[in-house]
Amino acid sequence: MYDVIVIGGGTAGLMAAVAAAEQHKKVLLLEKGTKLGNKLAISGGGRCNVTNRLPTEEIIKNIPGNGRFLYGPFSIYNNEDIIQFFESKGVALKEEDHGRMFPVSDRARDIVETLLEELERVNVTIMLRTAVEKLLMNDTHVIGVRTATTDFMATSVIVAVGGKAVPHTGSTGDGYAWAERAGHTVTTLFPTEVPLLSQEKFIQNKTLQGLALRDTAVSVLNAKGKTLITHKMDMLFTHFGVSGPAILRCSQFAVKEQMKNGGKPVTLQIQTIEDKAHNVTQQLQKLAKGEPKKALKNTYKALAVERWLLFLFEQAGLDPNKTGADVSQAELRALAEQLTTFTMQISGSQPMEKAFVTGGGVSVKEIEPKTMASRKMQGLYFCGEILDIHGYTGGYNITAALVTGRIAGMSAANC
Ligand SMILES: Cc1cc2nc3c(=O)[nH]c(=O)nc-3n(C[C@H](O)[C@H](O)[C@H](O)COP(=O)(O)OP(=O)(O)OC[C@H]3O[C@@H](n4cnc5c(N)ncnc54)[C@H](O)[C@@H]3O)c2cc1C
Repeated sequence: MYDVIVIGGGTAGLMAAVAAAEQHKKVLLLEKGTKLGNKLAISGGGRCNVTNRLPTEEIIKNIPGNGRFLYGPFSIYNNEDIIQFFESKGVALKEEDHGRMFPVSDRARDIVETLLEELERVNVTIMLRTAVEKLLMNDTHVIGVRTATTDFMATSVIVAVGGKAVPHTGSTGDGYAWAERAGHTVTTLFPTEVPLLSQEKFIQNKTLQGLALRDTAVSVLNAKGKTLITHKMDMLFTHFGVSGPAILRCSQFAVKEQMKNGGKPVTLQIQTIEDKAHNVTQQLQKLAKGEPKKALKNTYKALAVERWLLFLFEQAGLDPNKTGADVSQAELRALAEQLTTFTMQISGSQPMEKAFVTGGGVSVKEIEPKTMASRKMQGLYFCGEILDIHGYTGGYNITAALVTGRIAGMSAANC
């Protein structure tokens, strides 16, 4: 008989187990894999983007999947508390661009090892290679968990089994069926922070493969041509479609829009110049007039990287070797259109296995934000990516997992 059972030794589960055992409770951590903190160890390219130092308001904005739910949890434990937790255990952290926090050592293992040392210090019982098969419940209460060989009983159970993304780390989506059995709603699951696919000829022909566009405004448009979201960051053309930070951030909007419109392709807009085509036409005209004998590809070379500029010339049906003296107003308008509103069709995304994060999950409407307790089953708690909370990469998902884990552990211990 345990006070608290934590299922899943990932980001949220490790923090939950530490927090529960700090309250001098008998805590059992069950992990189906051979190691703890697998996903944490590979996050941030193996450097572990452990949290983010932006103000709460900004952090919430960077969690488009139900970020607002986190105002409650953040009032109890937040990103600054995460920083304080690791620094007080001797892991110096540093801030990089956009508030992203990493260990100074650039070693994700330092973060994982700190959590493991804490588990030991507060006497958490750990069982590896122990997959939970189901939750044991009566009509109103969770009473324990079942594994292949044993039933473990407890006053409270924390489900921290993660989502479905990158399943080789252990997160294979086991918890969704348990949540439903406990009376919870699981919202539609979809891959987020994921590269996007395209059947466009120039993608299939690999015309632009390897081309990176720096600090470029990328937007997802809906079926009526309205902008759903814009992110201005780097992007990359690949052999299957598009990737890079701007694309990963746009991906959930493209995926959701495609689900909404019955699987039809979704339009992505790339703005090389963020201005009206009319204004850009005038600019192009002025430049052309200024250097009438020069080939246009040279006159306009400051506007974009050469490979992209030549591609846009081709899309506009304009010969890049034409001179300023020869070009017509209509041709310049066509080029200005390409520079301001180039669009391509997105046919889908890479699968969940290749996504950084799972979209959808256990509905946050059925979770108490200040305790992470289930509103459907007493003694049951959820934390981490199994919840319908998903953010951009940048430390936001790990922050959500550590904060919800901490609160689930603290509350489950006092259940
Ligand atoms: C490559 C990669 C890079 C990332 N980079 C970033 C980043 O830079 N910033 C950011 O914020 N987020 C990042 N993320 C996302 C972030 O790592 C996750 O959102 C977060 O770690 C989820 O934590 P979790 O505890 O909910 O799940 P997980 O860490 O996945 O842990 C779930 C655990 O539960 C165990 N488990 C599953 N089923 C069972 C069962 N039946 N019985 C027992 N145990 C079970 C699993 O083995 C696993 O150990 C990245 C993700 C990936 C894949």
